[in-house]
Amino acid sequence: MDILYSREELATQRNTWKENNMSIGFVPTMGALHQGHISLVELSLKECDKTIVSIFVNPTQFNDPNDFLKYPSTLDHDLELLMNAGCDAVFVPTVDIMYPQGTTENKIHIELGYLGTCMEGLKRPGHFDGVVQVVHLLLEMVKPDVLYLGAKDIQQVRVITKLVETMRLPLKIITGATVREYDGLAMSSRNMRLDKQQRKVASELYRVLNEISQQYGLTDPSVLTKSYIELLNQTPGIRVDYIEIVDFQTFMPLKMWNKKGENLVCVAAWVGDIRLIDNVLF
Ligand code: AMP
Repeated sequence: MDILYSREELATQRNTWKENNMSIGFVPTMGALHQGHISLVELSLKECDKTIVSIFVNPTQFNDPNDFLKYPSTLDHDLELLMNAGCDAVFVPTVDIMYPQGTTENKIHIELGYLGTCMEGLKRPGHFDGVVQVVHLLLEMVKPDVLYLGAKDIQQVRVITKLVETMRLPLKIITGATVREYDGLAMSSRNMRLDKQQRKVASELYRVLNEISQQYGLTDPSVLTKSYIELLNQTPGIRVDYIEIVDFQTFMPLKMWNKKGENLVCVAAWVGDIRLIDNVLF
């Protein structure tokens, strides 16, 4: 597996692959890798000739400086996981390599409409601007044929899809299913920061999402949302940021149920000072 640090090394690698008519699958990450990330790498390995992963903790997408400072970093372990998975190359840039003219350069504006101002867009001001900025830069450098994203960050998937459509980038987006721990907790790099007690209560998030999905067609979405926010807030150690039942495409809150398979329930909650998100499509 090649470890690429500079833009030049990355360009040489991808150009060599392209000259040999190879398809390139790309998995952007912020490191502290787990099986959720590796599942995307495995999808790419199956479908593309070459697979490249980026590891870059992008400062511009953190609205909370504390979250950025405490974001876990496990580079040696990450490289070992990627090597064992059979990944072809990993791009590990520094902030200076990504933003040589400073982090305020290379900002692009994508009209996100409601998608940009609901849920994560509302609760984390500037977050999606940073995501769009870094993903656009990475896509310009890697120029992949296929981009692999995780359903765990479903709103991010929609935002990046909008970026790709707006900029008319010639690539396909594949969304991989959320990989979960034995008790249903969605795998996340931030889970590493949970202590034993927090780790135990964190599985309530998925349990609640599942319970809500099982009430499909029985109780009105807005009534369900309200009662489950109250219920989850009663769990010691958990503070709900939002629970929303929305249309799977527009992300508008549902007043009435959609057809089966087109309802999405999303949660964001604080477990101590760690903010976790999850969602279930039903
Ligand atoms: P991150 O390192 O958190 O920025 O995530 C990098 C990519 O991995 C994103 O496309 C995430 O949606 C995806 N991802 C993170 N956690 C999971 C998971 N538990 N299952 C599937 N994909 C995931």
